[in-house]
Amino acid sequence: MAATSNSFVVAGLSSTLIIQEHKMGFTYLQKMPTVEEILQSLPLKSECTAVKQQRDEEIRQVIAGVSDRFLVIIGPCSAHDANAVFEYVSRLARLNEKVRDKLIIIPRIYTNKPRTTGEGYKGMAHQPDPTKAPDVAEGIRAIRRMHIRVLGETHLSAADEMLYPENYPYLADILSYVTVGARSVENQQHRLTISGLDVPAGMKNPTSGDIEVMLNSVQAAQLPHVFVYRDSEVHTTGNSYAHSILRGAVNHYGQCIHNYHYEDLIGCAERYEKRGLANPTIIVDTNHANSNKEYREQPRIAQEIMESMRQSPMLKKIVRGIMVESYLAEGSQKPDGQEFGKSITDPCLGWEDTEKLIVNLAEAL
Ligand code: PEP
Ligand code: MN
Repeated sequence: MAATSNSFVVAGLSSTLIIQEHKMGFTYLQKMPTVEEILQSLPLKSECTAVKQQRDEEIRQVIAGVSDRFLVIIGPCSAHDANAVFEYVSRLARLNEKVRDKLIIIPRIYTNKPRTTGEGYKGMAHQPDPTKAPDVAEGIRAIRRMHIRVLGETHLSAADEMLYPENYPYLADILSYVTVGARSVENQQHRLTISGLDVPAGMKNPTSGDIEVMLNSVQAAQLPHVFVYRDSEVHTTGNSYAHSILRGAVNHYGQCIHNYHYEDLIGCAERYEKRGLANPTIIVDTNHANSNKEYREQPRIAQEIMESMRQSPMLKKIVRGIMVESYLAEGSQKPDGQEFGKSITDPCLGWEDTEKLIVNLAEAL
């Protein structure tokens, strides 16, 4: 198609690039850094690679049912301040020393936030400074710097949500656990991308609560696929460590429906077993629609899950972890709030309650 009067020039590139706008409502702001550029300018030390690979294997063993340690994927709803995240994960690392025989603690360092209406703070990858305008190229550098620092100093490789599948290579050498959120789990590109990962990936139930949709997603991620990823046609092997995360649901009137109770877990486990999928695993998210964002309910919900596991050998086998939203300070604040270690998205459990929750879990197992 011939260049239109809407064609414009992106400055700052070695060769001037003419982009045809085709009368779309896009303004091209800047060229994104390539994966090679990012990895070269922010490399990971080889000792960190070894730590990550060992942790990947330990987590895979839990999902495969070879290890009976329990996964605790825990941390703030969104990581908006690298210093606060570092302090938080450092505390987790100290706590980890006491509970490592029973638990595998995976810090949630979530750098991309899906938004219900599309409005609001979209995570550090978008806004490295939550009070300033988005800058995604700088955001990619900021999230990689934060993840490298945390892994290097704490040796706890982290979980992050895969909101934009094409951005995964920027952190692929760092993350030990990936989730697909409730709003993305029906999306083919997410499912197919997960099928090419070698780390465990949790597929959440959609906000409607449909368990079959969640299991379809696990099934799709476990199969091999051919598709277009970034700028190539690729073939994936299938990810047999893809599994499910129950996060509660919202009904047609906007009310929360829990799915962490005994009957919910049994119902999900039975449907899961019927599918004959590899490594059937349920992780239960204790916040979001399971707590109705009453974040202080999370320890009670975790205890109820433990009790359900004690009551049912099937649940003892299939429920292999929980996900908790927790930070240094409890609750939440507005995106321009300055309180150190307090969430600017979903409200979180505070540090003292977090410590008790983790110690109690280790004792209960
Ligand atoms: C989250 O984990 O913060 C999140 C957004 O979860 P969900 O996709 O379940 O809403
Ligand atoms: Mn959240």
